[in-house]
Amino acid sequence: MTLRGRLTAAFLAVVLGPVLLGAFFVASTVAAVDRSRSTERLAVAAATVRTAVDALCQQLRAAADAVALTPDRAGAAGQVVSRGLAAAVRVTDPAGRLTYATPGSPPAPWRDCAAATPAFGPVSALAARVDLRDPAGAGLGAVAAAQPVDPAFVARLAAVTGVAVTLLDGAAVPARVAHTTEATGVRDAVLAAAGTVDGESVTETAEGRYVRRVGPTSGQPLPLVLSVPSDQPPGLRAALVGAVLLAALLAVAVAWRLARVTTRPLVELAGAVDRVAGGDLGTRVPVRSRDEIGRLAGAFNRMTRETGSYVAALTSSRDQLRGHLAVLGDTLASTHDLQRILRVILHSAIAATGARAGAVLLLDAGGVLVAQCTEGLDGRLPADDPPGSAPLRVPVGTGVVGTVAATGEPRRGRIEPSEAPAGEPRCQTYVAVPFAAPGGAPADPAGRGAESATRPGDPAARAGADPAAPAGALGVLALYDRLGAEEFDDDDLSTLRTFAGHAAVAVDNVRVHEEAQRLSLTDPLTGLWNYRYLRESMRREVERANRFGRMLSVLALDLDRFKQVNDTYGHPAGDAVLAEFARRVRGEIREVDLAFRQGGEEFVVLLPETDARGAAIVADRLGAAIRDTPIAVHGHGGTPVTLRVTVSIGIAVYPDHGTTGQQVLDAADDALYTAKDAGRDTWRVVSARRTPPVREIPVPAAAVSPADGFPRAGAGPAPPAGEPVPGEPEPCGATPDTGRTGPAGGASSGPHPPRQTRGR
Ligand code: GH3
Ligand code: MG
Ligand code: MG
Repeated sequence: MTLRGRLTAAFLAVVLGPVLLGAFFVASTVAAVDRSRSTERLAVAAATVRTAVDALCQQLRAAADAVALTPDRAGAAGQVVSRGLAAAVRVTDPAGRLTYATPGSPPAPWRDCAAATPAFGPVSALAARVDLRDPAGAGLGAVAAAQPVDPAFVARLAAVTGVAVTLLDGAAVPARVAHTTEATGVRDAVLAAAGTVDGESVTETAEGRYVRRVGPTSGQPLPLVLSVPSDQPPGLRAALVGAVLLAALLAVAVAWRLARVTTRPLVELAGAVDRVAGGDLGTRVPVRSRDEIGRLAGAFNRMTRETGSYVAALTSSRDQLRGHLAVLGDTLASTHDLQRILRVILHSAIAATGARAGAVLLLDAGGVLVAQCTEGLDGRLPADDPPGSAPLRVPVGTGVVGTVAATGEPRRGRIEPSEAPAGEPRCQTYVAVPFAAPGGAPADPAGRGAESATRPGDPAARAGADPAAPAGALGVLALYDRLGAEEFDDDDLSTLRTFAGHAAVAVDNVRVHEEAQRLSLTDPLTGLWNYRYLRESMRREVERANRFGRMLSVLALDLDRFKQVNDTYGHPAGDAVLAEFARRVRGEIREVDLAFRQGGEEFVVLLPETDARGAAIVADRLGAAIRDTPIAVHGHGGTPVTLRVTVSIGIAVYPDHGTTGQQVLDAADDALYTAKDAGRDTWRVVSARRTPPVREIPVPAAAVSPADGFPRAGAGPAPPAGEPVPGEPEPCGATPDTGRTGPAGGASSGPHPPRQTRGR
């Protein structure tokens, strides 16, 4: 059974029960009252009947007495009858024979008023009898005065009593009706009911009449039946039944309506719960009242809203997780790519703290923090430093990030746009943490008068500082303008600080890896690239020269009589010479040129986009740089000595002297030996292509130098082989003069393996 059905049934039971009970109470009360009143009326009527009959009997007795006392009994009887004291008078002798009777006497039998036994049979008159006696007391007969018992008599009784009167024709049961005032329709029922009662008891007929009997008794010898109609309003029962039915109908309607109104929110709620179970968390139910059901609906709406937001949060969290997985993948893929790993670090830090913008600044060798990676800083940089131009640069010890780098202590706070530190992004709130490698030292232990970029006395400025933490050695991670909050709080700072610690490890790992890679490609004694990198560079440079139709010059260098240095002053002195030689070579070549230690005291210099003439100029310059300034070393026992060192150089050019890198290298070696043979401390260009076809290769600068304006080694174009170099007394390729110096100027610090310094 549904809830609505149960509620309807309950309501019906609650309403109809009292209605039925009330109807029953009313019906029974009315019936009881009616019976009581009818019984009372019948009792009064019975008393009235007895009184009337008794009065009639006394009147008849008085009339009989009057006749008996008068000698002229006939005259007296006539008087009595004429006066209406009796309807008839009859005189009998002692034997009971009639001696006189008034005319018109009713026929026998007369019922004697004094009769004490019930009479059986019809009664025609009621009579009072008086005995006649002589003075001696002997009976002389009797005088009886009578009144007829006829329909008129019964009607008078009915009129006096106010009830219907029926005279039976005898006391026997069942009796027949002698005279009655009952309506014909109920007469038989009354007679039948009279047969069931006795004495003063009252019964009720099916037609709604109350019936009782009166007499025959002493003093009232007539067998009478009295009846009164019920006092109940006609149709009372029908009215009650109708009222009950109407109440039932109304109750059903009201119960159905009430049950519907009561269960409707529950039905809606059940439907909404079904929809929620189906996954529709946007379901809401109307709140129509403030009762329990209204509260339930409100709670349901709250619950679905909360659940919806939880689901949204979970979804977003899942999306974030996916994003983080992507970032993790990116991170894994960029383990050795510093720029990519910095981008991942910055992006993750911004996502974790809800910042709008941020930057990772690393310390360069000059003590300046340089932004390596930024996000969201467009329009925030100083006006004279538009986005995309020079990167953000902040000297250590100045501004916010400079102070963090100098002190190694994180900072957070708020800055009015007008008070933004010079050179730093405009922002309202910021948090900056040191980016410190494990065990790193502060960028500037002295603190160099670091100025606080926050307002004086700002307690948040130094919140979270932990002197025990590694101070800013690598750089600073700075985030700007927190989204959805006033400013960055201590939790943000703590999170960022922990994150920066891990990130710094990753960055340090990248650097360690870069350093290891650098070391694997460099010569530890001279810091120049090693033979391994020479082979790689030759391959790359030959390919590039080939692709762009350029020339590539190769210089093979070998120190002259270097063995003597070792033998005379010891190996350490030889090493010092080698290191100084390498330093001077680096100082004489361009950024794009490459210097290698091939092994021992043999070196190679690659000069991209340089022809033989340019190479000759560089060779001159290198020879002079070594020759002109003696090298100071410590000999045996630490004795300081200065050594005059010279170098012989062989020059070969791709593609003129070889079609592969190795061929060009070999050609340069050949030229080197030629230079050695020529007496050392000089340079030679390879005189012929070493691979078939072997032919003499002149070095006509004009013929081989591309007219594209690309830079060339040296201060100016070299003259063709055999022609004098402008400003030089000897032509290129002439017999070397150990005292000769090459053209000065144009030297720059050539590319060389990076020094192992911080910031690179
Ligand atoms: P030249 O080239 O002019 O013909 O004479 P050289 O004395 O330089 O002859 P050679 O090339 O045969 O000698 C090379 C010497 O360089 C041999 C070795 O003593 C020295 N040498 C090679 N490698 C090193 C090094 O790493 N350190 C030092 N101190 N000496 C080295
Ligand atoms: Mg050698
Ligand atoms: Mg040598």
